[in-house]
Amino acid sequence: MQPLDPRDLALEAFAVARPTALITLDLEPDYGGRCQAGLDRLGDLLHHMRALGAPLTAFVEGRLFETRPELCRALVDAGAEVQLHCYDHTQPGDTPATLAQGAAAYTACMAVAPEGYRANGFRLTRELYAALLDNGFGWDSSILPGIGLGANPAPAFRRGDYFRLDGHLIEFPVATWRGLPLPFTHAYRRLIRPAAEAALHRFCALPRLVVYDMHMVDLVRTGSLAGSPLPAYLKGLYRLSWRAGESDSFASLTDAVEFLRARGYALTTAGALYRAIAHVAAPAA
Ligand SMILES: [Zn+2]
Repeated sequence: MQPLDPRDLALEAFAVARPTALITLDLEPDYGGRCQAGLDRLGDLLHHMRALGAPLTAFVEGRLFETRPELCRALVDAGAEVQLHCYDHTQPGDTPATLAQGAAAYTACMAVAPEGYRANGFRLTRELYAALLDNGFGWDSSILPGIGLGANPAPAFRRGDYFRLDGHLIEFPVATWRGLPLPFTHAYRRLIRPAAEAALHRFCALPRLVVYDMHMVDLVRTGSLAGSPLPAYLKGLYRLSWRAGESDSFASLTDAVEFLRARGYALTTAGALYRAIAHVAAPAA
């Protein structure tokens, strides 16, 4: 399936009123497999976010609304915003049918319909995009406009802070560095380590809207990598990110949040931003 092509869309780019950061979590089993050791550490992340005083937007795998509803309750109880990730992460990505299945699982658990979505591996396809519109989603945060796994390199997605697609769907792209289309996500930050990141800060800026992406397995070391279905090169990259022997990377998350705050970024959730910009981005009459 082909990634979404901006030439097929009416794309409007918008700027946020002030630098804004969304700390987002893709909540799913470990490393594309079935082990859930990372999920069992969600409480540690919620505790850490509370200590940071930072709001969290969580995209939860659809199946987890059926099989692990206590995780969704924990997110809600912690004040996190809960939205929908793909239905089954062991599959390459949602089809229109599995998107509807995920939305139904969300609605049954949360008593409201989801309004926001993130695709498996950032891969928003034309087919999935049409299905988001059909299922009444207001916004999406899937497109990684850069280089790397699942990224969409179309230059049009690197203009502006966020987009309105075909007059309807709002897209909050996942953060990449300006000038160097490397993702600014927890996984990539862990891979390049602080020294390289400090060098990047000297030459490249971050976008005014930072959608920061992370996974439980980026935050806590689990024993599930070896048995995961990931290709060998990806396993190697994950091993590299844990090469310092630490048991978790919450301190690195603290560094990112403190950096963003020091640079004047307002931290909010994707839904709160969506509501704040609705008057700007309302479909033209
Ligand atoms: Zn995911």
